[in-house]
Amino acid sequence: SIPLGYFGGIGAASAHGILFKGSNFLDLITKLNTVVMDKTGTLTKGVFKVQKIESNVDEKEFLNFLTAVEAKSTHPIAKAIVDYAGEKEIHPAENIEEIAGMGLEGTVNGKEILAGNVKLLQKFNIDYDAKIVDIEESIVVVAVDGKYAGYVLIADEIKEDAAEAIKLLHTNGVKQVVMLSGDKSSIVRKVAGVLGIDTFYGDLLPEEKVAKLEEIKKDKTRVVAFVGDGINDTPVLAISDIGMAMGAMGSDAAIETADVVIQTDQPSKIATAIRIGKATRNVVI
Ligand code: ADP
Ligand code: MG
Repeated sequence: SIPLGYFGGIGAASAHGILFKGSNFLDLITKLNTVVMDKTGTLTKGVFKVQKIESNVDEKEFLNFLTAVEAKSTHPIAKAIVDYAGEKEIHPAENIEEIAGMGLEGTVNGKEILAGNVKLLQKFNIDYDAKIVDIEESIVVVAVDGKYAGYVLIADEIKEDAAEAIKLLHTNGVKQVVMLSGDKSSIVRKVAGVLGIDTFYGDLLPEEKVAKLEEIKKDKTRVVAFVGDGINDTPVLAISDIGMAMGAMGSDAAIETADVVIQTDQPSKIATAIRIGKATRNVVI
């Protein structure tokens, strides 16, 4: 049972690994009718594994260039590549720039390296093998000195409680669940199908996620939560009525910006938070 009052509510939530940064959010969450979610790291584990390498240059060199630039990134994709490379010596990368929603640019051993998605190659006007567009899995494409050099296939997994999490939202007053992702639309559609999410958008740049959320918020009857792991998601966390961050995998900036932090990384805890809010309100009123 839940002890009296908002302090009790905050305490009960914290016992479930849910941190509310203020009792006002405990109240507001009971009115939640729209939940907007990120995919990678929120509904999927965000733990990628390298499955296959396809390169048209020397494979060792290809991996060396790719690992060197990814070693400078905190993205879950970068971690997969660095883990795959293991302990081996890599050239240091210089002048690294993270291009939001696309990938990385940098210099390795005097060569100009690009590593990211197809959008990144398009941005730099690089010709690529047309068949890579049809690959229905996540890939990191690489260009060396302005030439397409190949790709790495990587895979992520849906979290164990993700499908249950969506069901629980629907049985706890949430009318609409929306998934926004920077990942490829084909993958986003697949994940949405498995989880029973009927509104989803893929291939979004960070600023397009903000625009989508603003569009959703235009309907003033909505009380909107955004749930993300925070890598590139701080702006959407900030403008939602309730910003919720996954705490264990999430970035420090996201945890700082969020109103509610789910320390266990389980999306089913969103519904737990709603239930605790409702139980608290019943006690307070
Ligand atoms: P999401 O979390 O919704 O997938 P992000 O904005 O974090 O959105 O990433 C969008 C896409 O940008 C990724 O799916 C990937 O294709 C590309 N990307 C981002 N960072 C990197 C990186 N360090 N290395 C390779 N690709 C990246
Ligand atoms: Mg993300």
